[in-house]
Amino acid sequence: MALPTIAEPLPARASHDEIRRAVGAICAKYGDPYWRKLDHERRYPEEFVRDLSAAGWLSALIPEAYGGAGLGIAEASVILEEIDRQGGNAGACHAQMYIMGTLLRHGSEEQKRRYLPEIAKGELRLQAFGVTEPTAGSETTRIRTAAVRDGDGYVINGQKIWTSRFRQSDLMLLLARTTPYDELTDKTLGLSVFLIDLREAGDSIEARPIEAMVNHSTNEVFIRDLRVPRSALIGEEGRGFRYIIDGWNAERILIAAECIGDARWFIARGTKYANERVVFGRPIGQNQGVQFPLARAHASTEAADLVRWRAAALFDAGEKCGAEANMAKLLASEASWEAANVCLDVHGGYGFAAEYDVERKFRETRLYKVAPINNNLVLAYIAQHVLGLPKSY
Ligand SMILES: Cc1cc2nc3c(=O)[nH]c(=O)nc-3n(C[C@H](O)[C@H](O)[C@H](O)COP(=O)(O)OP(=O)(O)OC[C@H]3O[C@@H](n4cnc5c(N)ncnc54)[C@H](O)[C@@H]3O)c2cc1C
Repeated sequence: MALPTIAEPLPARASHDEIRRAVGAICAKYGDPYWRKLDHERRYPEEFVRDLSAAGWLSALIPEAYGGAGLGIAEASVILEEIDRQGGNAGACHAQMYIMGTLLRHGSEEQKRRYLPEIAKGELRLQAFGVTEPTAGSETTRIRTAAVRDGDGYVINGQKIWTSRFRQSDLMLLLARTTPYDELTDKTLGLSVFLIDLREAGDSIEARPIEAMVNHSTNEVFIRDLRVPRSALIGEEGRGFRYIIDGWNAERILIAAECIGDARWFIARGTKYANERVVFGRPIGQNQGVQFPLARAHASTEAADLVRWRAAALFDAGEKCGAEANMAKLLASEASWEAANVCLDVHGGYGFAAEYDVERKFRETRLYKVAPINNNLVLAYIAQHVLGLPKSY
């Protein structure tokens, strides 16, 4: 069977191998020097994201009725994994896939018809997700950004932090408070999700780039008297936190897949270098001190990948997968970090040289132990919801 290329439409039921090959063909156009230069210049991979969008890969989760490919989370995860496996950074464009679920599950028919076909065509970008705030941190129910009803709309004021890809997005999914915290008996209520059209926001939103360890186009965002119509509200007012939680399993599975891709890149690069580098008259990979850590990192990666596939299968079958999705994220982020350290060690001093790309990927993969959720909170979920231990926070 002919394989899809970037010029062909996305097959509706693409096999994982077909996806890997087609996404891989796009990635091959953007090799190590491309990502290295971007990292150095702290620039967004505009060309890469445009190519990926034009080929339909970032709309994988949009149903066919709205112009997308109607694929499952398993397929979506393969797309992101492949980007990282080839040395790229799917973090530049992964949010569209996480965010999509909130709009798909809780958006009105009118909102879906208005935005999804254009997103599917790559003409609109929904890559910004404004949840985290400086004072609330991981305690999302404490956010302060407030949306106050005003006539037939809302006026929003507040501050977000770490809002990634804000300047590269047309749309932002924003979590804001619609009922003061002290007036709530159930603290998971009182927050609402808005789909903000950034093209219409003018100077009511100001973004200040954060200089960070990774090239992640991330910002502090200040919102001052931003007026949005009622039609910007997604679902019911006050239920936004629950809508965001609904998307967390997809997010965890997709991040796990990116980590698996990173881990495979580190292991492949480490193995190649260990076979080629000769010191003391033999390849360094002949030393067990060099090969065993690589072998162990490979085993950790394969184990994490099994949990990722289990979580994805449950998710796509519409079954509960909170435990599996959280475990996949935990194990995969640890496996990629293990592989990153091994790869750096194998490369010796050269691992620190930018031209080998190890130090760049090392920084990039480290993020996933902390964001989008830190692994301590993942452990707290497993302790509480799987093992039945008391809630610790
Ligand atoms: C590069 C980058 C990009 C990001 N992009 C986005 C984005 O696009 N949109 C967005 O909304 N957010 C984004 N984030 C924010 C990210 O989701 C948060 O940084 C993350 O959720 C952790 O929150 P925090 O940094 O406030 O840490 P805090 O909540 O302050 O926690 C600090 C540390 O304390 C520990 N800790 C806290 N509470 C507990 C507890 N109860 N038990 C045990 N340990 C605990 C954890 O180890 C945690 O790492 C991004 C972050 C980064 C670094």
